[in-house]
Amino acid sequence: MPKIIVAIDGYSSCGKSTTAKLVARQLNYPYIDTGAMYRAVTLYFLQNHISLTNPRETQQALNNIHISFKRHAELGRNDTYLNGLNVEDEIRKMYVSEKVSDVSAIAEVRHALVAQQQRMGKTKGIVMDGRDIGTVVFPQAELKIFMTADPLIRAQRRQMELLEKGETVGLAEIAENLKMRDYIDTHRAESPLKQAEDAIYVDNSLMTLDEQVELVVRLADEQIGLSLRRSAE
Ligand code: C5P
Repeated sequence: MPKIIVAIDGYSSCGKSTTAKLVARQLNYPYIDTGAMYRAVTLYFLQNHISLTNPRETQQALNNIHISFKRHAELGRNDTYLNGLNVEDEIRKMYVSEKVSDVSAIAEVRHALVAQQQRMGKTKGIVMDGRDIGTVVFPQAELKIFMTADPLIRAQRRQMELLEKGETVGLAEIAENLKMRDYIDTHRAESPLKQAEDAIYVDNSLMTLDEQVELVVRLADEQIGLSLRRSAE
């Protein structure tokens, strides 16, 4: 069976990762959460007081950062590791969310992470979500989804997610953080968040998770079928 690349981009907390994870499971592909990679770099920068404005310091720090993913057998999830340490819970905290878009706008950071992401998808058969997957990381991806949802619904979903992890944050603070990240993500000079011309726009405000997953899996199956026909010609 030919393998394809599924690229899911969109705004913060619109359910990309949850959808992407379940789509990957159904397709039997690995799932890569690129937001987790930017969050891990941000955590390292915060812990080591790395300057965001000194390119040489940034580059040196990046040389010391190793990010990997490992399956957590008990929880059945893919955990993010920073230099061998499991940072999955730490990178989701609010203090990381507050800085991650600034760190993600640094050209050196993007170049390093994009190169790693491209290596991960070299042999295709991958589901990756983020902000620039369909535009910069894999412009040749067979299936590109641009996902969004109503800002209030996104803030409520994020609040639930944080609550489940034991962090209580007010809706207004979360909404403000999402607004700020959307602004920085769409206005940065280096690979800003934008819909790829050939991406399929999905507003999931009124969709259930099952409906979203079903839609993306159906679109992926169509692309796999297309690739199969092409390879038979
Ligand atoms: O997906 P998540 O909300 O966890 O991503 C955290 C932040 O990482 C985003 O707000 C964005 O600033 C950055 N990001 C990015 N490019 C990606 C993935 C995430 O700039 N491909």
